[in-house]
Amino acid sequence: PVPVVAVVGRPNVGKSTLVNRIIGRRQAVVEDTPGVTRDRVPYDAQWSGRQFTVVDTGGWEPDAKDRAAAIAAQAEAAVATADVVLFVVDSTVGATDVDEAAVKMLRRSAKPVLLVANKADNQNIELESAALWSLGLGQPYPVSALHGRGSGDLLDAVLEAL
Ligand code: GDP
Ligand code: MG
Repeated sequence: PVPVVAVVGRPNVGKSTLVNRIIGRRQAVVEDTPGVTRDRVPYDAQWSGRQFTVVDTGGWEPDAKDRAAAIAAQAEAAVATADVVLFVVDSTVGATDVDEAAVKMLRRSAKPVLLVANKADNQNIELESAALWSLGLGQPYPVSALHGRGSGDLLDAVLEAL
């Protein structure tokens, strides 16, 4: 079976942009408005000759109501069915309470998690992303999904974790 990599995180941190970067085409919908990706959307991907499925999800929010709660449930389901999870954080914002709540959910899942410090568009932000060690998920991988910076190192780490 083809391994599955789930991409989760708060709304607007750049999950869909990262998915597009990983699959090498603009297929996942990127929006400035949070909450555009409602379901689990799988895409075929490959890196260094290995194939895997990357799953885009809507933004995970704890204690969400109604529609937002359904989106969060989809993200949790994506984690449950994944072999590796990419937990995406906005490094220009840093770790929020919502990020910390998401980390608790990820710990309960007991899945291998790689911490993606997205929006690290330049070296200054990349250096600041080291603060995300505080989330307790190990090494943050600084990435600019928009410009491609750091995505190769992240994908190398994904293959190692699979
Ligand atoms: P999602 O809600 O987590 O799927 O986030 P999106 O992928 O839809 O992106 C939300 C916004 O963040 C869009 O305006 C993206 O262009 C922007 N964005 C995503 N990745 C990056 C990045 O690496 N750097 C910067 N500067 N903006 C980004
Ligand atoms: Mg999205």
